[in-house]
Amino acid sequence: MTGWVDGTSTLDTGTAEPTRPPAGLSVRCRGLVHLYRTFDGHDVVALQGVDVDIKAGERVAFLGPSGSGKSTLLTLFGGVQRPSAGQIFLGDDEISRLSEKALARIRARRVSTMLQGASRNLLSYATAGQNLGFAKLAMAPGDRRQARGDAELLAQMGLTNQANQVVATMSGGQRQRLALACAVVSNPALLLADEPTSQLSHQDRDEVLDLIHSLGDEFGTTILVVTHQPEVAQTFPRTISMLGGRVGSEGRDGAEYVVVGKEGVLHLPAYVAHDWPPGTLVRVEPERRDRVLLTKPTEEAESERSFDGTAGAG
Ligand code: ADP
Repeated sequence: MTGWVDGTSTLDTGTAEPTRPPAGLSVRCRGLVHLYRTFDGHDVVALQGVDVDIKAGERVAFLGPSGSGKSTLLTLFGGVQRPSAGQIFLGDDEISRLSEKALARIRARRVSTMLQGASRNLLSYATAGQNLGFAKLAMAPGDRRQARGDAELLAQMGLTNQANQVVATMSGGQRQRLALACAVVSNPALLLADEPTSQLSHQDRDEVLDLIHSLGDEFGTTILVVTHQPEVAQTFPRTISMLGGRVGSEGRDGAEYVVVGKEGVLHLPAYVAHDWPPGTLVRVEPERRDRVLLTKPTEEAESERSFDGTAGAG
């Protein structure tokens, strides 16, 4: 990955001390379930038993169709909302059990969540500089001197000339880069970003992506991103695909794996499921300890079996 976007700066380079590279934060969840109660009193099951293990410093893209639970999972990892059931560990802390106060402390010190849509993360009638100042207010007072310098950060984001510009007058790409600057000003150990590059031009998308990856390169930050863009996902060494509130499959270093879920449930890859619709009978024959054969009986085999009396009794 390339380094930070270069920017020429005539601004003060900031008063912050050289920042201590934070070690990334590991993320682990077990049996995560999340329900939303709708206005008319119905429960929507957004997550139904998710188990995920992410090592400190890993970079993972979450994929999956709309409604599969990606954004919900990210907000639970970021402590923005609490799970209905299950456990979440950030490093050694089980955040699903922490008091509000302790959770707020972890959020302020170690985790940054960039919600979907740059404007949800920014004050639109404030300038770029004011937004960074506001983001730093969320940090614990004792940690603020570890914040990254505004001028340096804006230069790295290619926003030096926007320091005094009001967000409402910025382009989509500039807002997205500013939202990222606000998310990383505290030097988080875990960055959670929901669709950070959607609705951007190819050039802006690539710049924002480079910025995100350079965080991992420079600071070892753990980076989890939700995306629907294959061009974005392929820059991540690991992908997790959600399907119906569960982990459906994983990609690691170019290889695709389906993930065994609760009670041994497997999601077939889409290209198989297309020809094997729900209700298809499948024979499961272990071949070796590490290999199982799945067979969809052909119509001839079925009729031969019926004829032999080996199937279809009754
Ligand atoms: P994704 O990010 O994959 O699109 P979400 O996590 O946003 O999925 O949503 C998962 C499920 O939860 C969907 O069925 C969605 O309609 C529902 N959902 C999300 N947020 C809410 C909410 N605030 N109230 C009710 N249902 C919600």
